[in-house]
Amino acid sequence: MSDVENVIIVGSGPAGYTAALYTARANLSPLVIEGFLWGGLLQQTTEVENYPGFPGGGIQGPELMQKMRDQAEDFGARYITDQASKLELSTEPGGIHKVWVGDDEHQARTVVLAMGAEHKKLGVPGEEELAGAGVSYCATCDAAFFKDKPTVIVGGGDSAMEEAIFLAKFASKVYVVHRRDEFRASKIMLDRAQGIENIEFLTPYTVDAFLEGDGPFKRIARLRHAETDETKDIEIGGAFIAIGHEPQSHIADDQVRIDDEGYVVTEGKSTRTGLPGVFAAGDLVDHTYRQAVTAAGSGCQAALDAEWYLRDTPQVPTPDGMPVGDLAEAQWAPTRS
Ligand code: NAP
Repeated sequence: MSDVENVIIVGSGPAGYTAALYTARANLSPLVIEGFLWGGLLQQTTEVENYPGFPGGGIQGPELMQKMRDQAEDFGARYITDQASKLELSTEPGGIHKVWVGDDEHQARTVVLAMGAEHKKLGVPGEEELAGAGVSYCATCDAAFFKDKPTVIVGGGDSAMEEAIFLAKFASKVYVVHRRDEFRASKIMLDRAQGIENIEFLTPYTVDAFLEGDGPFKRIARLRHAETDETKDIEIGGAFIAIGHEPQSHIADDQVRIDDEGYVVTEGKSTRTGLPGVFAAGDLVDHTYRQAVTAAGSGCQAALDAEWYLRDTPQVPTPDGMPVGDLAEAQWAPTRS
């Protein structure tokens, strides 16, 4: 068993590393349980052109995450590159929270949950086998590989429309395959996609399987009509799955409030979960925006919420070295000693 930490951060996307940077800069020496595949979804991305501060073509996703990690480490963040396996979160103000990594128990006065979300999988044959080799979950990352090739987008929400519109600039043809005739996507996005010449809608169809074709960039999507059960094969260069995200809340879902879709529920505009000293940030709480920059912003909020909790909870001894005064102000205008 370790000493009691000021802050344990579980997760390591932009939310986790930003929470680490802020709490490190507040002299709280955060411990980050960052997982084996640290860096979150941006590790699977190529160019990131919409993270502010990187003009002239953006930055590669893995490089951005490495920089975030290094920056927090510069200020004293510590990392365990392993999965958190169990949580025991206290329900009492000032209570000690426990986080296990395998058999190792770590204790903390505050915990920031930032486990992120994964792309939802269809779970059909060929999807896993062709992942990264014909099946992708991010058209904005991989569309350029499918220049002048026919492609499939699976899904009927705004993400599917957005991806189809983007992909249509590269691919010779984009089939949008959706399991119903009605769409969850907003009318404006649907209208926009329907107005593009090389986008064709195939509904109501589900995907039975993805198969290798007879040559490079030749794959087959085997579709099934949802009403007649008839199957048909379409030749494609690649497929993009855009059926939503799955928040990685499993480890905490019996202890903090979770909505119907598995997202952790926070109070108002804060990152408070309802458990004293437990905060949640990033894609774990965000069904809607899911951007690196919004996740980073909520990681910052979680860090400040944790700092306020440590300073203002009577049952918690205020950690030595914490900034005094307005903590948000101290983050951008630190008192120099
Ligand atoms: P979503 O709105 O939850 O839509 C997911 C889509 O995938 C639905 O059409 C759903 O079909 C389908 N789907 C789910 N599981 C499936 C399965 N196992 N097999 C086949 N199809 C399946 O997710 P999203 O499109 O990622 O959007 C998430 C949020 O981000 C929404 O609030 C959206 O408005 C927002 N967003 C906004 C923009 C924008 O530009 N404004 C862009 C992207 C995302 P059913 O409809 O039949 O359930």
